[in-house]
Formats: sequence, C-alpha cells, structure tokens
Amino acid sequence: MNIEHTKCPNCGGTVFSQPVSGSNQPASTVDCKYCGSQFRVRNPNYQPEPVVHTTINTFTANYTNITEPSQERSSGWRNAKNGEHKVARTLGYVVGGLMVPFVIGMWVAVLNNVPDLPMAVPVIFTGLMLFFFFLARMSTRELKRRGL
Ligand SMILES: [Zn+2]
Repeated sequence: MNIEHTKCPNCGGTVFSQPVSGSNQPASTVDCKYCGSQFRVRNPNYQPEPVVHTTINTFTANYTNITEPSQERSSGWRNAKNGEHKVARTLGYVVGGLMVPFVIGMWVAVLNNVPDLPMAVPVIFTGLMLFFFFLARMSTRELKRRGL
C-alpha cells in the first residue's frame, strides 16, 4: 500500500501516514504519534481529472447544444435513416453512371442533326444525370458526417 513517511513539522519526528486510499483527494490529514499534532501530507495517489477527459466532456456538451436545436427544424435529409441514405447513394451513382453513355449518345445524335430530336432532350437528361450524382454525393457526405 501507499504508506509514506514524512517528518512532523511540529516536533520533527518521523511519521508514517495512513495508507491513502482513493485518488480524488489531493492531501490527507496525518496524526503525529509523538506530539499529537495534525498536519496534511500530499496524497501520492492523487490524480487530477485528466484534461483530455474534461475537454471531451465540454466538447460533447457543446456539440449536443449545437445539434439539438437544429434537429428540430432540420429537413428530411438530416432525419432520413442510414439505410435510406445508403439506397440514395447507391441508386444515385448507379442510375447516374448508367445514364452517362445514354446522355453522351443523345448529345452525339443532336450534334449530328438527327431528325426529330430537339436540343432540349439531352439537356433535360444531362440535368437528370447530374441530379442523381448530386443526390449520391449528398448522401455520401451525410453518411460520412454520421461516421459511417
Ligand atoms: Zn510531531
């Protein structure tokens, strides 16, 4: 155990302090067996609460304060389940990816003046393709934000 010996500040006798249990007290009171005076000695087991731990607690408290109110007025995007975001991510990349050759083909056709194909068609499909990629990218970022 942690028995420390120290000198009594009153009579100078060597005092063996009681085993100091616990680590939450910085010092403990010791009785001198020679003169009966009491004095305090440093607790060798004393460990102040680690700074990192305190920082994490503060950070968590602040983070909770920041996120809590915003969740109430957040859009469905933030409230969507992880599975829904994963579906949106996969679907966005797959559909967007499948549309790439299709869209390129339409642009090639329009630029080659294929009849009955207005310019608006490839423009609309390009926008749709970009929307799917955007959807997939936003879900990826949201999942990353959630640490998934
Ligand atoms: Zn003493």
